Amino acid sequence: MASQDQTRFLLSENDLPKFWYNVLADMPTPPAPVLNPQTGAPVTPDFLSVLFPMPLIQQEVSTERYIEIPEEVREIYKLYRPTPLIRARRLEKALATPAHIYFKYEGVSPSGSHKPNTAIPQAFYNKISGTQALTTETGAGQWGSALAFAANFFDLPVEVYMVKVSYQQKPYRRVLMESYGAQVYASPTNRTQFGRQLLAQDPDNPGSLGIAISEAVEAAATSGGKKKYALGSVLNHVLTHQSVIGEEALKQMDLAGEYPDVVIGCVGGGSNFGGIAYPFLRENLRNGRNTRLLAVEPAATPSLTRGIYAFDYGDTARMAPIVKMHTLGHRFIPPKIHAGGLRYHGMAPSVSALYEAGLIEAVAVKQLATFEAALTFARTEGIVPAPESAHAIRAAIDEALQAKESGEKRVILFNLSGHGNFDLAAYEAYLNGQLEDYEYPAEAVQAALNELPAVHVSG
Ligand SMILES: *Cc1c(COP(=O)(O)O)cnc(C)c1O
Repeated sequence: MASQDQTRFLLSENDLPKFWYNVLADMPTPPAPVLNPQTGAPVTPDFLSVLFPMPLIQQEVSTERYIEIPEEVREIYKLYRPTPLIRARRLEKALATPAHIYFKYEGVSPSGSHKPNTAIPQAFYNKISGTQALTTETGAGQWGSALAFAANFFDLPVEVYMVKVSYQQKPYRRVLMESYGAQVYASPTNRTQFGRQLLAQDPDNPGSLGIAISEAVEAAATSGGKKKYALGSVLNHVLTHQSVIGEEALKQMDLAGEYPDVVIGCVGGGSNFGGIAYPFLRENLRNGRNTRLLAVEPAATPSLTRGIYAFDYGDTARMAPIVKMHTLGHRFIPPKIHAGGLRYHGMAPSVSALYEAGLIEAVAVKQLATFEAALTFARTEGIVPAPESAHAIRAAIDEALQAKESGEKRVILFNLSGHGNFDLAAYEAYLNGQLEDYEYPAEAVQAALNELPAVHVSG
């Protein structure tokens, strides 16, 4: 039983989960098929095996509820897991709320976010499958750093296509990737056919996550099987790997002697949200719990709350598979908001399907209100959050203020997906009054509809 004033709820190495939880086992409807971008028909394992090693393809389509975490992966997880669960007592006091606010802190990983939770197993499964090098994209640099960190342990070279604006705005993320041994290129590059085509049209193309994915996919697909591609979010196997967050949090809430009324995560592609929320969803669906699960996205890239639920390409060049998801259209070039990790045009198929089914909630928050929440958090709890994670903080504060209004003791748990120590340029812009709110225009949502692929599936 927790003492009255306990703040940190820690697990020992022995409590590190031995299994990942796969939400596909508990989905109310079977997942929509993944489609070949050239034909619009369901993909074959052969098509996927150009990009991914077989163990990850098997996890991608698995409906087994639990997948064993290999010992080699658990050994590396132990460098930073289990991560702490912290009660935000000073934040509660500053808000004068009767709510109890807890956060799971994933920023303690060596690369500073939750992303190593999937980078480590992805590097491991590639290594044992004979992959000689990995290609990937990165937006803000979090995913590239995580993969560079993880692949290094398995002596796998990494080629990172980094969105050009981030490459220019975030030189230190690039240096971090290079310190772990990765090669980093500003995308669009002249290393791929697609990149060369875009640069011929516009040498100043700022890049986007969709473009960088296209380049990384092309680099793997044209390598004669030597290189494979790694994706840091969206796919089922990624969200499965991230379930370690929620599995630990369940045990830690138990240590605190409480159970959350609401679990909150920010969403870019959906992986840190799925990671913390899905084990709680399982408890809702299988063990009679009734926790609200709230996904928080930027008003500037509102794929869940304003996007269309449809089959769309995963990337701009239409080389990556087509999946059914909430999308702003694969040609989406995001506004230059500072939460770089939340700028993807689509959303994880499982998050999308659960939102359609009414099993999770979503809200969009604006940039200025998000940075205001980030500073409130930094000045009460001491951690400067990643701008992405600050979206979850905004929503957690709003929940706590609602609880104050209604005089109710709400138990709030949110995922602090990363720290913001590499994002100080964004904080500087905010502190200097240079950030603006931006809302995604309704016409753009309409325009994206015309670009959706023709598909050949029933239902
Ligand atoms: C990448 C990233 C995100 C967004 O990605 P998800 O897959 O939605 O989790 C959120 N927070 C941080 C710190 C990130 O690095």
